[in-house]
Formats: sequence, C-alpha cells, structure tokens
Amino acid sequence: MSNLFNTYARYPFDLVSGHDWHLVDNHGKEYLDFTSGIGVCSFGYGDPEITGAVENQLSAVWHTSNLYESQLQETVGGMLAGNDKLAFFCNSGTEANEAAFKLARKATGKTRVLAFNNGFHGRTYGAMSLTGNPSIQAGFAPLVPDVIFADYNDPEALAKIDTDLAAVILEVIQGEGGVVVGDKAWLQSVQAKCQATDTLLIIDEVQSGIGRTGYKFAFEAFGLDPDIVTMAKALGSGLPIGAMIGKKKLGFAFTPGSHGTTFGGNKLALSAAKMVLTKLTPDFLDGVKAKANAVWTTLDDAVAPLNAVTGISGMGLMIGIHLDESIDVEKVIGKLQEAGMLTLSAKHNTLRLLPPLVMSEADLQKGLALIQAVLKEAK
Ligand SMILES: *Cc1c(COP(=O)(O)O)cnc(C)c1O
Repeated sequence: MSNLFNTYARYPFDLVSGHDWHLVDNHGKEYLDFTSGIGVCSFGYGDPEITGAVENQLSAVWHTSNLYESQLQETVGGMLAGNDKLAFFCNSGTEANEAAFKLARKATGKTRVLAFNNGFHGRTYGAMSLTGNPSIQAGFAPLVPDVIFADYNDPEALAKIDTDLAAVILEVIQGEGGVVVGDKAWLQSVQAKCQATDTLLIIDEVQSGIGRTGYKFAFEAFGLDPDIVTMAKALGSGLPIGAMIGKKKLGFAFTPGSHGTTFGGNKLALSAAKMVLTKLTPDFLDGVKAKANAVWTTLDDAVAPLNAVTGISGMGLMIGIHLDESIDVEKVIGKLQEAGMLTLSAKHNTLRLLPPLVMSEADLQKGLALIQAVLKEAK
C-alpha cells in the first residue's frame, strides 16, 4: 500500500546513493546511469565542486525571499542572459514556460500562441495547454484558451503565424515527443515569419539546454535568435530551479507585482546553478561534442543496423533509439535494468538516452554494448 497519489508508474526499486555516473538501489544493486534523472544530473552524482558550492551556501543562508537584492541572482542572470537579455528565476520547467506565456501576452497585448503537436512544456495549466499531447490534457478541460497547434517540421505551420499571434513556442529537439530534431531550414523560416509578423519566438530549452547537445543551448546549433528562452532540468544539477530569459526590449512588461514566486531564485538552488554554469566552459562543451561524436559512430555502425531498430535521432548526448513496433520499449528498459543500466523512454516507442555529460567514453561505450546485446535478443 502506498501513501502517494498514483501519478507515476514507478520501477520497483529506490535509488539511494550515487557517485560519478553510477547509482545504487536499496537492494545494493549498482547501475550505469543513462538518464541523469531525466536530463538533470548532467555532472553526475557527488561532483565535489557543485557539492562544495551548495554546502557553503547551506552554512551561510538558504532562503531570504525576493524582497531583497540578490547578488547571486544578478550573477547567474548575467551568466545566462549576457548583456542584451534579462532573467527571471523560478523552480521548474513548467514555471519557466508559464513565465514565458505570461510575458508574451503582456508584452505583445495579443493572446494567441502557436505550439506544436508532440511538444512538451509542462503540467501546470498554461504549460499543459501549450503541450500538444491529448493524453496529457485529458480530463483537465477547459484549458487556457487561444492556443493553436500545428505539426512540427511541417511547412504548412508557417501559414498559422500571422500578426494576431503573440508567440510561437517550440523545442528545437522535441524530447518527450520522441527526440525529434527540428529541421534547421524550417526553424529558421519559423523565426523569419515570427519577425515579419511581430510574433515572439519562445524556445523551450528545458531538456535540450545547459550542455546536453554539446552547446550551452541547442538553438545555437540552428543559428536561431529567440526572443525568450526557458530552461530548468540540468540548470541546478538536481536542486529545483527554472529560468526564463528574454530580450531586454520585453523588460517593460514585467514590473513589480506582475509575476513572482516565493522560492524562485532561492540561494541554495542558485549556488548550484552558478557552479554548473561555471563548469560549462567552451572546453567542457567541446569535450561533450567529442564524446558525442564517438557515441554517434557506434550508434550508426552498430545500433542502427539492428533488426529491432527503425531509426536513431538526436544530437549530442540527447539520443532516441526508435524501436520496431513488435518490441515494447518498457521491456527493453527492464532488461537493461537487470543488466545494470538505467535508460528512459519517450513517445513513439523510443528508447531515450540522456547520460551524464561527464560519463567516461569507456562507460558510454559499455552502455551502448549492453543496449546492443538486449536489442539483439529482442529481435
Ligand atoms: C521536462 C520538461 C518540461 C517541464 O519541466 P518540469 O521541471 O518537469 O516542470 C518542460 N519542457 C520540456 C522540453 C521538458 O523536457
């Protein structure tokens, strides 16, 4: 019997400790982690610099509210936003998208937003209303009005971007939706149409951001210049934090009282984020790209040809292995757990891999070898 609402289909073990990119469960079994806690713990478990930064903050002060100045928020805001953008801190991805939705409506004076089928932006009413997945919205109507949808990567979506639109929101790589990579030319034409119609472009980098693809933000690889960017997951290395950054020209729309949150930008989470961003250097990102190249060579040469695999998509260390319909991805995940490895699923029977960015090349290859063995047995 559980004391909890049954909102999650949980695997029957509890991860109670971890080090580097390994986790240990309550039965003492150790796993190679290809999940990073759903794209959160990109620096693995027990990183001494992140732990040290949080411990220092813990012994100074944890929480002070947003009634006072915060040098830590200014510093991390500057690290994220540079000179031409402003930051707002909150506690999760869904909250970052709520802030973006509210800012877009208030700054443009328009209400309608275009989002994409199979996108995922979160579970609160605004973010859920932007999430083009009927199974996530089922039972919760009425949703926030004036949200329209189009198919992702579909040229026909461009016709829906007109001067009545406040914003377009999209992921440049749809994560939950099956690790679907945006077409570069299509994304650029979406941006061009937004600029021509005074529509704001909101890019949700909650999953793809903070180094996951070998770029600080995945949109950089597509040559985009969004008006608003949202992030969360990996930003605090496991402490709850989200952020929205927006171009300075939007700053007029948010004034004291417009928007806020008690915990947002709290010092403990910000101390972790500051260290995460300090460690996310160009050299580190180059290292992620180099590791990812080796991983993709193995994926292309040894995983893609397997009978069980219909395709592989993704970028950097955000990877979707699409399985044949005769194979249940949950069974594959179970077999990999038995073999001592943690993986994720995504929509459309996708085996999703989000390993910690710090994982050694040897262990990345070890994980891929385990996947090959399990998939060969499956079909
Ligand atoms: C996980 C996710 C969210 C929601 O983040 P939460 O912190 O769970 O609220 C939003 N957008 C994308 C792209 C995500 O992957």
